[in-house]
Amino acid sequence: MDRKGILIVVSGFSGSGKGTLMKELLSRYPDTYALSISATTRKPREGEEDGREYFFISKDEFEKMIAKGELIEYAKYVENYYGTPRAYVEQKLKEGKDVILEIEIQGALKVRKSFPGTLLLFVTPPSAQELKARLVGRGTETMDVIRSRMDRACEEAEGMDSYDYLIVNDNLDSCVEELHEIIQGEHHRSFRNKAFMKDIREDLKRLKGED
Ligand code: ADP
Ligand code: 5GP
Repeated sequence: MDRKGILIVVSGFSGSGKGTLMKELLSRYPDTYALSISATTRKPREGEEDGREYFFISKDEFEKMIAKGELIEYAKYVENYYGTPRAYVEQKLKEGKDVILEIEIQGALKVRKSFPGTLLLFVTPPSAQELKARLVGRGTETMDVIRSRMDRACEEAEGMDSYDYLIVNDNLDSCVEELHEIIQGEHHRSFRNKAFMKDIREDLKRLKGED
């Protein structure tokens, strides 16, 4: 059976561990998944590299990409623009990869509108206290930024019901496997296998007529 790639959106509170989870998923199953790299106007954090975590671009460049239709979606998040470049996603889906977009909720809902079969996953830590501890523990932001990310988390928590699955990132190892199983299970949904069903129906009729 031809394997068609699934478009997957992974959202979750900043600090919930999405980045860590994705890195682990990709390293365990490099042939199955492709992770889209977003463009952003935010400044790189220490250790981040242009073209690896994000394409770090100026506001001008970002606006040009919007104008040329080169982004599937974009959103403003805590004063910066973030967007998903179209070309890579379309290419990888064509190759049969499951393509993951790690984006926030406004973008997630826009993607589902333009790509109706999109699978929406929401990652959360086991508790609010744990979220704050992870944000502080990561040590990449000032207390001010952490506060605005906690505010944003309150807003985002209201949108969790729009997602297909809730992924609780408690133990990293088991969470990665859970994610993989959910996504791979999704391939068996009947609406994703219309071509197969059509073929087998036709073959059954043909076979029936042969005797
Ligand atoms: P996000 O990409 O969602 O903003 P990160 O992947 O940067 O989050 O994770 C935030 C912090 O939490 C990091 O310091 C990371 O090492 C830690 N972390 C991620 N997953 C877990 C986990 N399952 N248990 C404990 N700490 C975790
Ligand atoms: P961070 O600055 O912590 O890397 O990302 C902030 C938020 O922006 C996260 O919720 C992340 O998922 C989201 N994000 C990253 N890339 C994109 C994108 O291309 N589009 C949208 N809509 N959100 C994104």
